Amino acid sequence: MDSNQKGSGRAKVARRFRRIHRLALPGEVFAGDATRWMEQELAGREILDWWRSLLSERLTGASPQPLSFYLHVPFCRSRCRYCQFDSLVPADEGALETFVGDMEEEARCFLEALGPVSTTTVAVGGGTPSLLTEAHWERLTRALFEGLVHRPAGAYFSVEMNPDTTTAGKVAILAAAGANRLSLGVQSLSEDALRKSGRSYQDLAGLERAVRDVRTAPSLHLNLDLLAPLAGETFGSFREGVEGVLALDPDAVTLYRYQSVIRGGQRLEPGLFAFEAASRELIEAGEAAGYGFRLETRTATILMRRAPEWADSRYEHHPDTPASVMAFGPFGESHVYGHGLYRTVFRDDGGMAHRGTRVSREWECRSYAARLVARMQPIDRVDFERRFGRDPGDLFRDEFGFLEEVGRMELGKETIRPLFRDAAEAGLYAGLMFDDETIEHLARLQASREHGRLNTDDGRR
Ligand code: SF4
Repeated sequence: MDSNQKGSGRAKVARRFRRIHRLALPGEVFAGDATRWMEQELAGREILDWWRSLLSERLTGASPQPLSFYLHVPFCRSRCRYCQFDSLVPADEGALETFVGDMEEEARCFLEALGPVSTTTVAVGGGTPSLLTEAHWERLTRALFEGLVHRPAGAYFSVEMNPDTTTAGKVAILAAAGANRLSLGVQSLSEDALRKSGRSYQDLAGLERAVRDVRTAPSLHLNLDLLAPLAGETFGSFREGVEGVLALDPDAVTLYRYQSVIRGGQRLEPGLFAFEAASRELIEAGEAAGYGFRLETRTATILMRRAPEWADSRYEHHPDTPASVMAFGPFGESHVYGHGLYRTVFRDDGGMAHRGTRVSREWECRSYAARLVARMQPIDRVDFERRFGRDPGDLFRDEFGFLEEVGRMELGKETIRPLFRDAAEAGLYAGLMFDDETIEHLARLQASREHGRLNTDDGRR
């Protein structure tokens, strides 16, 4: 590349940066939410075409192999005050019946169009999957796991349940369908914390009964979830909770970090101790009780008695790209690698629709780089090339050159390091990883939102 080409490439990037700066989009748009901003209503047949293409590319090795199946059951008996998940309280029994019927119909359409789909992991979450009845689960497992969704023996198949709605019958149906992990959302054993969180319906006797129900299926790995620091919880009550949970002899305990949310203008304040202290307490008590396998991330600490055969599988339903996710159920988010992303939403008339964005393979690696930049994480050149078959130094030559010139990036042979002052600046510069066409598209959407117009399909891509 001669210096003229280099100069015009950098000038183009500088113009893009000025455009991004003027747009003043929220930082999260570039940190992973760009597709949410660009989404539009999609026809079911287009989505099936994406899947058809991806599955045939997978067969020839032209597309990545990981493909997770996720079923989102969008209902809860009431809303916990701390909850950030997508769920709603059903108006009546009929809403559950309609949901199950819709899932059966969607499974039938997918099977007819695609044949059996071979997946690498399966997860059922929500909401509260155990809110569905045994009869509902009979129908869903038949429609999904005896027809559409296949997976290798021993692959990760996890189901989330609430203790108060777990029954031995539901456990047996899910275990027979191939589930090998069942996770009970305990969150806390403190009466005060449960009351403040809106979970007064939960008590220790109910939890003990649910654990006995899960233990009727010996193939299931039982995990108990805790959340800390919850409002109303003291360090002393948390410690007692850890002892109480370990006394139930689960195969694993997962402690999640409480993330403060504002709901209906109200914030549920966290308890007055640090997640790190809670995590240390769990690790010490767990190791003393023989839990030898440990996994720590920024948001969770996981202890297991021993690693199961699927321990290497992702705990997340959305593994880092390149991978695909086939999600069923309202709020479920699907990713058809190199083709599109979409989620299922309720329409005003109670029916379901799909909203999403078409994406290209080029977009996939740009979006991945943007996420790393927005999180101020270094880019490992070898890892990036392994994932996408392209050296990020080549792909983003002008962008990284510009960032180096303005002192915001250090270009090493092996690692490219962001040098941003704070997260806001990182979010802004992350926009540079997208192409001009994407930035222009976001600008048009921003303008139409500001003018209160609806987001309509403009035939992009
Ligand atoms: S039961 Fe789970 S998904 Fe439902 S509101 Fe409570 S935390 Fe959220």
